[in-house]
Amino acid sequence: MTLSSEADARARLLAERADATARVAALHRELDRILDDTADRDADDEHDIEGASMPFEREQVRATLRQATDHLAEVDAALGRLAAGTYGVCETCGRPVGEQRLAARPSARTCVPCASRRPPSRG
Ligand SMILES: [Zn+2]
Repeated sequence: MTLSSEADARARLLAERADATARVAALHRELDRILDDTADRDADDEHDIEGASMPFEREQVRATLRQATDHLAEVDAALGRLAAGTYGVCETCGRPVGEQRLAARPSARTCVPCASRRPPSRG
């Protein structure tokens, strides 16, 4: 990997990291708001008021937050690989992941052929 593409990769990853961090923070606020709403409703002493939509919304936000947190971890791991000099090397076969794939998905761990193969399932 050339120095300029490494700088590009770092810039892309840092931009993606900023996005992911903002998304995680926004989702945390959203979840807090939902939980506060739920707490208010409980305090109202009206047990039937929590309709089906509230737990659903809460689970949706939780699931999205989980994905965003995972993504942030992926980006952090990619930055770690960049620092370690292993960025852009497929974790499965050791071949280059490829500039195009890295441009589309800066946190990619594997090359396209390896990614399109199903990973060995563990149960
Ligand atoms: Zn591979």
